[in-house]
Amino acid sequence: MNKIERIGVYTSGGDAPGMNAAIRAVVRTALYNGIKVTGIYRGYEGMIEGDFKEMVSRSVSSILQKGGTILKSARCAEFRTPEGRQKAYDQVKAAGIDALVAIGGDGTFTGAELFSKEFDIPVMCIPGTIDNDLYGSDYTLGFDTANNTVIDAIDKIKDTAASHNRLFFVEVMGRDSGCIALNAGVAGGAEALMLPEKDTAIEELIDSLEEARERNKTSMIVIVAEGDKNGGAYNVAKRVKEKFDFYDTKVSILGHLQRGGSPSSFDRVLATRMGYFAVNELIRGNRSATVGIRGSQIVSTSLEEALRGKELKLDEELLKIAQVMNI
Ligand code: ATP
Repeated sequence: MNKIERIGVYTSGGDAPGMNAAIRAVVRTALYNGIKVTGIYRGYEGMIEGDFKEMVSRSVSSILQKGGTILKSARCAEFRTPEGRQKAYDQVKAAGIDALVAIGGDGTFTGAELFSKEFDIPVMCIPGTIDNDLYGSDYTLGFDTANNTVIDAIDKIKDTAASHNRLFFVEVMGRDSGCIALNAGVAGGAEALMLPEKDTAIEELIDSLEEARERNKTSMIVIVAEGDKNGGAYNVAKRVKEKFDFYDTKVSILGHLQRGGSPSSFDRVLATRMGYFAVNELIRGNRSATVGIRGSQIVSTSLEEALRGKELKLDEELLKIAQVMNI
């Protein structure tokens, strides 16, 4: 096994708060261990184009508290082709990069695994996505911060909902994952949840709102994950209003503000631990894995298992708790 001399670090796919903290941890842990670091800009697009920059300790000053990613992110169709990956490898080789740390979601990991196998280059992946939908980690970077943003918005919406006897439909991010919606439902005290993993019919939702009205609820919040099968908060609100019009009905789409903002303390510590762990795993000889937190431990899971392992399941107990809290 050859000693690693230079690590390339990049962010790819959707950005998430905490990515910068992870970049900082990768750069400083590598430098501490005598390993040089190249920052690869714009994910796989920048890798193909050789958009690289030498990273020193001061390159990552004052980024710990910033949302987004200083290395920028991109989605790159060319990297999906063997020719694109060959171009990327030529750039990586010419820059003397002999190991990679990828920060992103499952698409980013899939690309990293292919690249690592094709060119025999070690890669560690750090889960950075607000959706919390990656196997191998209880939490992904950005999930906690996004939840705090959502809760802040719901608290404010609740004030106006209560003052006017309103029924609010709040749409949160989550195309395939109801994690943010479920968490917001419990932490924000929502009356009902519409999640991509559950095929809740509009009639079922109306029944639960009717029951809540009978229990003298004067205002209500329904959280709709963007991937809910009924087609988002506007559609759900429209169809509910046709049959249930006791309240003034409003819709609020939280949108991309959920992606931004200064990372929470939890995300900063998690990102720092993951970045530190990723570099140390490379030094220990791990050649293809994702970093995660299980309980309070930072662990690695092979990319093979992370990408093709068990399906992620919604936390049914938390869903039950959300329902019980709504009596
Ligand atoms: P998120 O979905 O959380 O926003 P992600 O990392 O899953 O993040 P994607 O757009 O799915 O985002 O993937 C990021 C990039 O990874 C793609 O633009 C592409 O360059 C690369 N990639 C994804 N899937 C593959 C694949 N099957 N083969 C090669 N490269 C891939």
